[in-house]
Amino acid sequence: MGELCIIDLMGRIVNKETTKYLDKKVKVCGWVNSIRSHGKIVFIDLRDMTGIVQLVCTSDIAKDIRPEWVIEVIGKVCKRPSKMVNPKIETGKIEISVEKLKVLSKAKTLPFSIDGDGYEINEEKRMKYRYLDLRRQRMKRNMIERQRVIQFIRDFLQKQGFIEIETPILTKSTPEGARDFIVPSRLQPGKFFALPQAPQQYKQLLQIAGIEKYFQIARCFRDEDPRADRQVEFTQLDLEMSFVEQKNVMDLTERLFIELVKKLYPEKKIQNIPFPRIPYEKAMKKYNTDRPDLRKNKNNPDLLAFCWIIDFPFFEKDDKNKWTFTHNPFSAPKPEFMQDLLKKKNIKNILTTQYDIVLNGWELGGGSIRNHRPEALEAVFETIGYRKKEIKDKFGHMLKAFEYGVPPHGGIAPGLDRFLAVLLKEPNIREVIAFPKTGDSRDLMMDGPSEVSEEQLKELKIKVIKKSKK
Ligand code: ASP
Repeated sequence: MGELCIIDLMGRIVNKETTKYLDKKVKVCGWVNSIRSHGKIVFIDLRDMTGIVQLVCTSDIAKDIRPEWVIEVIGKVCKRPSKMVNPKIETGKIEISVEKLKVLSKAKTLPFSIDGDGYEINEEKRMKYRYLDLRRQRMKRNMIERQRVIQFIRDFLQKQGFIEIETPILTKSTPEGARDFIVPSRLQPGKFFALPQAPQQYKQLLQIAGIEKYFQIARCFRDEDPRADRQVEFTQLDLEMSFVEQKNVMDLTERLFIELVKKLYPEKKIQNIPFPRIPYEKAMKKYNTDRPDLRKNKNNPDLLAFCWIIDFPFFEKDDKNKWTFTHNPFSAPKPEFMQDLLKKKNIKNILTTQYDIVLNGWELGGGSIRNHRPEALEAVFETIGYRKKEIKDKFGHMLKAFEYGVPPHGGIAPGLDRFLAVLLKEPNIREVIAFPKTGDSRDLMMDGPSEVSEEQLKELKIKVIKKSKK
């Protein structure tokens, strides 16, 4: 697990580094993790972001000190007697003999223990006090690992010539298949922004802009019922490239995952390289799912079985017996089905260029080669029942942009939360997100969503209809 780069601030030495200062005087700061009193001598385990260091002090210095208080200590780094060495912690060979101890902040008794993994603690309680829950080592590790994975991705893609670009959060409703979160506009009363379900249209527009390799660690918002592998806001590695075919995007993604695992998690084994590429129909026949768990041995927690699912049907019937897209309306059909799409015939048989990447039974995400012919994109929207005017209102900007020289392009967007949950062997994505929401999408710590003032509503020209009490 990861190294953390530490910068000393104000002459403070972080706990992990104290071992380098044998027989020297240092200043350390942190939280009181535990206190053990042996009469006149008191041992304090001091915790900071880098770990624990043992303090030894006289009982008069340590009197009144309680767990989780924040303290600053000046003392000498001493070698521990050999039988007192603690091999379990990095600083186990030394301790700090305290000369001065200053209390920076007191703490109440915590609402739960932060010693263990915390899985047994009521999760709503953990969420309400997330800032305390994040003090536990497992959660801190998850945050650090998340950062390492993101850093690796950034470095990898930048080396391949990708540019990281932020796209708007206040945007227009897009059809990614889920419900939008909408945000009222004060300056245009009665109109609404939508939060992006994905930066799909922006990343395509960036290809038209000539940014041939785009990526973003992108926050996406979908107003769906959360599940173990879903939150209403989540993070994707969103990328898009010009002048590519299906194989190129898949190969690049595959290489990224393989190199990431090899470099950051060498203890893990990827079951099959290259990743198997399974047509949807075959997956359904053989595994009865389009996200099969291909691990040969499910008891081996460090086994990673990636696979690709390809050749999905482009359209399916919805519950009203109308055609809808299965994945992404902006996808191109496989080339041999382009004529069918343009003529809107054999709808059922049209296959899309969509590719989904699956890991140990979790759908990490997917992507496709895009439909860069405006008439073909229009044919998709007509097939799913949009009228000409609706197409113009909703996607006029895309169709217009397509008139000015579009490179063939494609991309993918693997979910980072899911990938991290599998890598870190966590049962759900909430464990790898700093501030997740509950099953009914509340933020228990901030108490959101919340009511807003009459004034705010008035400014927005919005009236809330309260349900009458029965
Ligand atoms: N925008 C798609 C999604 O969020 C991914 C992609 O096709 O790039 O699922």
